Amino acid sequence: MRKRIIAGNWKMYKTMDEAKNFVEEVKDRLPESDRVDAVICPPSLYLSALVESTEGTPLKMGAQTMHDVDEGAFTGEISPKMLAELNVPFVILGHSERRQYFNETDEAVNRKVVAAFSKGLTPIICVGESLDEREAGKTVETVAVQVQKAFEGINAEQAKDAIIAYEPIWAIGTGKTATAQDANDVCGEIRAEIGKLYDDETASAIRIQYGGSVKPGNIGELLSMEHVDGALVGGASLEPASFLEMIGVAAND
Ligand code: PGA
Repeated sequence: MRKRIIAGNWKMYKTMDEAKNFVEEVKDRLPESDRVDAVICPPSLYLSALVESTEGTPLKMGAQTMHDVDEGAFTGEISPKMLAELNVPFVILGHSERRQYFNETDEAVNRKVVAAFSKGLTPIICVGESLDEREAGKTVETVAVQVQKAFEGINAEQAKDAIIAYEPIWAIGTGKTATAQDANDVCGEIRAEIGKLYDDETASAIRIQYGGSVKPGNIGELLSMEHVDGALVGGASLEPASFLEMIGVAAND
């Protein structure tokens, strides 16, 4: 059985104090469970302190983005080498907000995926269609191309450890969630695409999250679906109580 992964994407929210308070409240109340990985992706400024304060607890840290080279004249960026040095295990790559506001292309996402693996970081690779693409019946084609491009140059052993987050853009921060059936259908198509690129073993090992307005009230139904192995959660990950509730659901049912 695939281990679930619930990752909170805090985006550009919380002060350092608020971030520390969240972690203090949550880290010792997480269930001891080999059923679920619990991850928070705070603003990168806070990673160093939060990795330290969560050491030895089940709460793991992830970055929200990174550059693809180890160092260089790239003002404002953080590198895979820097994240690896801080022992940050996860990194979100290709989030739709990065694609939309920071011009991140499929090619750039691929370079970052390659760089993540070269430093032992686990990428959470985001894919998803816009409302126009969905209404034009192009959902599966859109995500399949994003998956193909993201995994160029990645071998099967690496792919098994990758995490894909299926996030329909129209469902992010809007309160509109894909139905559990829709989420499962697209996650199933993504798994099939991984099967085509690699093999059945890789397809059944890779973990696929759904993201887009996930909250305590809908996570149970989403996780009950065959191909949904977790969630990438924005807004509902900002409050300790709702984050803990979602982890509780993932750990127990
Ligand atoms: P949301 O964000 O849960 O607030 O819709 C999800 C995401 O952007 O990863």
